[in-house]
Formats: sequence, structure tokens, C-alpha cells
Amino acid sequence: MYTQICPAYIQQFSQKSAHLHISTSAHLTNICTFKTMEPVQALQKYFGYSGFRHEQGAIINHVLNKKDVLALMPTGGGKSICYQLPAVMLNGLTIVISPLIALMKDQVDSLNVNGIPAAFYNSSQSSQEQIALTTKLRNNQIKLLYLAPERLFANEGKLIDFLKALPVSLIAIDEAHCISHWGHDFRPEYLALAGLKREFPDIPLIALTATADKLTKKDILEKLGLKNPAIFISSFNRANITYRVVPKKNSFNQLLAFLDDRREESGIIYCLSRKSTESLAADLKKEGFLAEAYHAGLDNALKARTQEAFLRDEIRIIVATIAFGMGINKSNVRYVVHVDMPKNIEGYYQETGRAGRDGLPSDALLLYSPGDANKLKQFAMIEDNPEQSRIMLNKLNDMVHYCQLHACRRQFLLKYFEEDFPPNCGSCDFCLTEFKKFDGTLIAQKALSAVARLKERFGYTYVIDLLRGSKNEKIREEHKQLKTYGIGADISKADWFRYLRELTALGYLQVTDDAYPVLKLTPKSDAVLKGLEKVELVEFETTEEHQPATTLPFETALFNELKNIRRDIAQHENVPPYVILSDATLQEIATYLPQSLDEMRLISGFGDIKLARYGREFLLPVKSYSAKNGLSSKIKQKVAKRERSTKTTGTTKSNRPSDTALETFNLYKAKKTVVEIAALRGLTTATIEGHLSLYIYNGTIDVNELVNDEKKQLIKDAVESYGDEKLGPLKEVLGEGVSYGDIKAVLAWMRKEGSI
Ligand code: ADP
Ligand code: ZN
Repeated sequence: MYTQICPAYIQQFSQKSAHLHISTSAHLTNICTFKTMEPVQALQKYFGYSGFRHEQGAIINHVLNKKDVLALMPTGGGKSICYQLPAVMLNGLTIVISPLIALMKDQVDSLNVNGIPAAFYNSSQSSQEQIALTTKLRNNQIKLLYLAPERLFANEGKLIDFLKALPVSLIAIDEAHCISHWGHDFRPEYLALAGLKREFPDIPLIALTATADKLTKKDILEKLGLKNPAIFISSFNRANITYRVVPKKNSFNQLLAFLDDRREESGIIYCLSRKSTESLAADLKKEGFLAEAYHAGLDNALKARTQEAFLRDEIRIIVATIAFGMGINKSNVRYVVHVDMPKNIEGYYQETGRAGRDGLPSDALLLYSPGDANKLKQFAMIEDNPEQSRIMLNKLNDMVHYCQLHACRRQFLLKYFEEDFPPNCGSCDFCLTEFKKFDGTLIAQKALSAVARLKERFGYTYVIDLLRGSKNEKIREEHKQLKTYGIGADISKADWFRYLRELTALGYLQVTDDAYPVLKLTPKSDAVLKGLEKVELVEFETTEEHQPATTLPFETALFNELKNIRRDIAQHENVPPYVILSDATLQEIATYLPQSLDEMRLISGFGDIKLARYGREFLLPVKSYSAKNGLSSKIKQKVAKRERSTKTTGTTKSNRPSDTALETFNLYKAKKTVVEIAALRGLTTATIEGHLSLYIYNGTIDVNELVNDEKKQLIKDAVESYGDEKLGPLKEVLGEGVSYGDIKAVLAWMRKEGSI
């Protein structure tokens, strides 16, 4: 059905060095037709992956059937494969529109390393290079051509006329949200793409993006003129990222503590101002970190050098403003830190999304200070544009809400993007925290009486300033005379925020919905103020400072050796190391210790060409390491794991358990108890219970295995009477006989059933 690249062609191509983006095909024979192949087989052959992720399979089928597609997938979700695989399978040329030269170069390098002839056409090339490229295109020797949108219709349409004369089989538009004014990355040059359908009316078009709200989505479809498009929206959950927000105290020391055991890992640190990127990078250098600053004000050549050095793992840390990031394809970014609060959730999610594209466990850390929110408020006010200011302020408020959240952060983020997720992800700071209760009656009385004395006319910040006896001139003189002024000075601002939020969640306070929300008492407040009711508050204590850096128990020394080999090859071929093989692939090798090329083929990321090119080079050190340490191949475990995981994943889209949850699940299936699993994995029982509830939610574990019928009914009744918002009150009602784990299990089951 589809045309394949013939093996001889690949073989010849693969012998050339990858960095010669366009000159390699001079020695190529033509593409020849070759027996048909299923997409999944082609995926294994050309990219070395054993199965599709997210909606890749369905998207690819649509494209192969010549349908227009809009694909929304999170960063790192695997958008590129959606057009690269059809490009390889279809007869003819695929044109890829991509906004940044750096991004194109990266993609072209990666394709070439996999033996797929790809090229880009841009202003950085000499005219000789461009002529050579044209020849190859005419000779049908290029499968993917990357272009910047402004190139397409430049030169009085010469390029477009040239392309129209070629056998174009597919057009892909990457970062498609750039076409919309509503998106956060509007690029006027993308508007030119509206002409594509006119010029290529019969060629399927696939538009891809990681961020598109409803308006942007509509805009993309309209502006590009997609015909009866199939729209695919994947879950935006990034299961391998752990989200944490901590109150900012001494940000540099906090940062050093975080970075201390991550010296060898790559990360991005985002700051608000250009100046602070420079000073922070300098301070980090003094501490011996390989860090550089990056912001829009730097000289272009310097920016390009810094970016390149980061891609090549020569610099470990980029300290950047938001100018850095788009087009950074580096897959082994292990952490993203925000030392200042971002302006909105969209930006935050996109920035944190740059971590862990290779699927390995990664961290997102945000240092939060209410002061940052105030600073940002000033930026959000746009002169003479009250409507826009209101939108920006609302977005900022959502961000503040996220920072002060007393619930699962992942659930909040996904809800923001209109996706359902159960409230215990097992891998955000909230879900990793053990809650201890204490008698908070006095604190509650102080807070409630402050609200009462202020006649229920002020918001969080003012109430807290009053309680803490702030000298701020915003506090009115008459309020400084109140008895409540300063009675809470012993409690930090951040803690007060938490307590007030908790009192709100418990129903002792409420917040109005106005533009300037104020705190009000509720019918429940009175009993507390009169000392008739006790209030229990939560004492925060993160029991798990660190998740283990990775869930795979790989051989570290071997992993480092493999990294060195990769670095040498990458230097030789003049591409970033992750283009050769990703960290995830090297970790798999160091875990499963393949002892032959056939076993190596089972490692994710080894397509035919990569195996032929580098298999042996990586195999030799594995064999000698194994021999020296008396180890043998564990590849059978990988095959078993793959079978298990495909069984467990065909479930709810938005709720795919992470690898760490899968590990828990496997131990559970091996008849270990929650306590045993927690001990074995060095995690808390709460975390393990969180993992198991994901499997109850997606229907893999039957709730009756964990909770008997009688308890299940009791808990269900309690949830129906008291709601599912908070576990604490439910536990209190249900008493000693019912554990938190029981409650979580039943909640997950009720959610699955759709009864809450
Ligand atoms: P996006 O463009 O959506 O941010 P990429 O296309 O760069 O994501 O893919 C992210 C990473 O995931 C890449 O390293 C890619 O090779 C890998 N990947 C993509 N699809 C698969 C798959 N089906 N199986 C395993 N890895 C995959
Ligand atoms: Zn969570």
C-alpha cells in the first residue's frame, strides 16, 4: 500500500556522517518501492520504538489515509513521529513548517542519524548548498524538507512554484498555535500559511501543537483551512514530572540544596528579569556549577553558543528568562526550577514541560513568594486596555491559587486544561506529604476574629498583614488600634496563607467571587469564635524529600561509561549527544545489559540504522562490564515488563499511571501488602495507596481486593454525606477502623463509576 525506502538506499545513506544535512544524498540511489509494512513495524524499523504513544497510531492512520489532522499533544508527547513516520512510509516529499532554525537542525540531525534523508532550507545556507539541495529534491532524494514559514512564499513565490512541481505527499505544521493571536506565541509569519491549502488543495495537512485553548484551536483550523479535520487531543498529563512548590525563603540556598545532588544533570532555571539571570548564573558558577545565563538581550552569537553548549551537555544549567525554551528539543532536561513565579499557568506548564521529554523521572520546582505575585500584578495591568488587563490578572490569580494550593497539583493543572484526573497523583508535593493534625483552634479564632473586626471587607493579604502586625502603610490607622492587630505575628505569612485557605476549605471562612475577593465568616464560624468548637489544622511535613532519581535500578558506572562513548560519537558526528541515543535508551542498556545485537534491538530507541551504526560500539562495554561484575543479561525482564505494561495501559486516557505507579502495581500483583511495598520501595504508605488508587480508577484493580463490602458501603455513605473534597474530615467521621488507604481506594472506585 505504501512505498518504503528500499534497504540499499538506507544503507548507503547511513554510511554518511549525519551532520552533512543535505550533501549526503549525493551518493544515493533513488527511492524504490518495497513491500508494504504496517505503521508499527515501520516505527520499530526506523525509530526503534516498539509501540505508539498517546494517539500517535490513530493520527498516523489518518494522515496515511490523506485526511487533514489537528493534533494536540503535550511537550515530549511525541508529535514529530506523527508526521515523520508517514513521511517515511508515503511516496514523495513531506514539507515540514517549523518556526526556529535550531529546532529544524535538531530534527534533521535526528532523522539523519536514523538513516532518513531529511534537509532544511533556510537563510543560514550558502547559495551553493541551496543549489545542491534543489537538485536532490528534484531527484526525489529527500523525504522531509524543513522550512521556516516566511520562506515559503518569499522570492515572489519561486519556492512555492518549485515545491508544487515536486511529488509532495504531506505538509506538516509544527507549533501550529503560532498562527493565532490568541496563543501566547503569535508569529505573524505563520499567517502566510493560510495560502497553503490554496496551493496544495489535495495534499493532506497535519497541524501540531502542545498548547491550544479553545480559541486558538478554532483559529488554527480556520486560518489553515483544514478540510473536515480529525482532531486528536491527548492527555496533557506529564506523568514523569514531579511538581513541587515551596515557599521562597533564601532562594539561593534553597537552590543549592536542590542542585547539590543534581550536579551531573541538565536543568533550566527560570527567572523573571534579565539581570537576575546573569547574577544567578554568576553565583552558581562560583559554586562550581556549569551554568550560563540566557535572555533576549544577549548578543545572538552568544545565545547560539550557549544553547549549543547546553544541547551538547557542556553546560549543565541554563539560567534564563522565558526567552529560552521554545525549540529546545533536548530530551534529558532533568529539572526545571522557577525561582520567580510565572505569570500564568500556560507558561508554567509549558516551561516545566521542557523537563523529561525522554520519559525519565524529572522535577519541576517553584519557589513561591507572595511578593512575586504583587510584582507581577503591576506587569499585568496594561494601560488603556482594561479587558486585556482583566484577563491577565485572572490568569495571574490562577497561578497564585496554584502556588497556594492545598490539594494535588497535577489534578489542578490538568483541570485547568479541562481534563479530569483523580485527586491523588502520588507524585506532587501534596500527594507526597504525610499530614499530621494539630489543635488549630486558637489559630482559627485569631483568623476569624480578624475577619470579623475588619467587618468582612478585606482579602487574604490584608487580613494576614493585620494579624502579623504589619507596619505597611496600606494598613489603615484605625485597624492598627484593633485588638487583633499583631496577634498572629509568630506565624509566617506563608503559613497564614495556608491556614486561611484551609479554614476556607473546612467551611469556617468563605471567599467572595468579586474582582477583589474578600473573606467572610460563615454560619460555622460562630461556634469557633465562642470556643464551642475545636478546629483541627494540618501540620505540613514532607516525608519524602526526594523521590529516587530514577525508578530503574541501573548500573551507574556503566551508564556513565556509555555516556562517554555517546559523547565521543556525538562530537565526531557534530550533533548533540541525545540525537545519537537518549538518556532513556542508555539507562535501559545499563539496566537490562543486552549481550548481543539481537538483544540490543529490544532496547527502546534502536531502529535498524542506529543498531547497525552504533550497536556494536555500545555492546562491547556492556559485555565487558557484565563479565567483570559477574552480571548477565536481564533483557527477558524487559520483554515481560513491556507485555505487562501494554496490558495496563489501554485504559483511561487522562489517567495513565506513571512508571513508579507501575512498579508499585507489579509488587502488588506479586502479593505484597501496602506496607511491604512501601518498605521495599522506600516510599510512604500514602504514596503506595495513591498509586494503587490510580489502578482502581482505571479498572485494573478491583476495589474489593482492597476493601471489604461493609467498609466500602460505610465509606460511600460518608462521601455522599460529606463530599469528597477532603480526606481528613472523612477519616474523622469514619473512625479508627477505616484507614486513609481504604478511603482513597473507595474514592477512586466511586470516580471510576462516575458516582462522584
Ligand atoms: P514533542 O515534539 O511532542 O515535544 P518529540 O516528538 O520530540 O515530542 O518526542 C519526545 C521524545 O519521545 C523523543 O525523544 C522521541 O523520540 C520519543 N518518542 C516519540 N514517540 C515515541 C514512542 N512511540 N515510543 C518511544 N519514544 C517515543
Ligand atoms: Zn498530586
